[in-house]
Amino acid sequence: MTALPTGSTIGILGGGQLGRMLGVAAAQIGYRCLVYAPEENPCAAAVAVGHVRGDYDDVDALRDFAARCDALTYEFENVPAAPLRALGDAVALHPNADALELAQDRLREKDYILSHGGRPADYREVDSRETLEAAIDAIGVPAILKTRRFGYDGKGQVRIMSRNEAAAAWADIGKRPAVLEAMVAFEREFSIILARGHDGDTRVYPPPDNRHEDGILSRSIAPGTGLIAEQSAAAADLARKVAEALGYVGVLTFEFFASAEGPVFNEMAPRVHNSGHWTIEGAQCSQFENHIRAICGLPLGSTALTLPRVEMTNLIGIDGEEAQRWLETPGAHLHFYDKGEARPGRKMGHVTQLFTE
Ligand code: AMP
Repeated sequence: MTALPTGSTIGILGGGQLGRMLGVAAAQIGYRCLVYAPEENPCAAAVAVGHVRGDYDDVDALRDFAARCDALTYEFENVPAAPLRALGDAVALHPNADALELAQDRLREKDYILSHGGRPADYREVDSRETLEAAIDAIGVPAILKTRRFGYDGKGQVRIMSRNEAAAAWADIGKRPAVLEAMVAFEREFSIILARGHDGDTRVYPPPDNRHEDGILSRSIAPGTGLIAEQSAAAADLARKVAEALGYVGVLTFEFFASAEGPVFNEMAPRVHNSGHWTIEGAQCSQFENHIRAICGLPLGSTALTLPRVEMTNLIGIDGEEAQRWLETPGAHLHFYDKGEARPGRKMGHVTQLFTE
């Protein structure tokens, strides 16, 4: 593809902080973002040239939006794929609808990874109490029951520590189509964040060590060391293979558990990722800029570190005043998303710190 000229308009479906950081990166290299989101004041719109308020399944509104854009992307994976397919080829959508659909369904995603040589935790499809019992017979306990669709940040999932918790777990997830997953005895969690261009050029960031609290990412430290460093090449090979098979354009993220038996695939996200926020200051070219470069048909930037160690800390459930205390810490880079009310568990911003050793 010939690169989109500067001044072109990129349509972003979704109005959260990922869209906001994409908007900043796009503006920096001369592109304009238009945000499509159902909310009244999405935080991405504050840095965009405009906001169209509409539902994700409103094909007419999406068509009008697409007509104003030179490229389309999305910043969260629960945008329904069918209305996007209905837009046809009027404007290029990246990452493509196939990748979006795959990442929306935990079961299909795990099957796909398995068929490409990856290793998810042992899993079984669950669509009833009976299939849940059978899955427990096959996998054993402890295990985790996760809804196939619409799960994030540990939502839509429940741990089953003993068989007599099965009925409650099934009710807990709303009796929705699900996957039962074996509990992985892992040492660390890490992610492979890659960018793939129209020409197939693929760049992988140094994999960060991701620390979670209550199922929510709290810190990412790059580069991951020890077992993560040992297992990152195999994990990156899998990620590259999947990106190529999907004809993927943009940033794609894979989460892994580093276990004594090797890297275990957890899930993938067809987008920039919280565990890659450190790349804004910590990499030569950030995940946000590389996503914009990729979808605009530009050459990708270097994913190398700017300093030997980078740490990103999420600011969860805190307000602007508390977040601004970070401004007193020398070298701390504060990013505040201006999302309104600070609620427990809500990601309000993040801080990145760089270290020379
Ligand atoms: P997820 O939303 O699937 O990424 O899960 C959120 C967090 O729960 C993960 O980052 C892990 O810390 C934990 N978790 C999820 N699945 C498993 C598993 N199969 N075994 C052990 N821990 C898990």
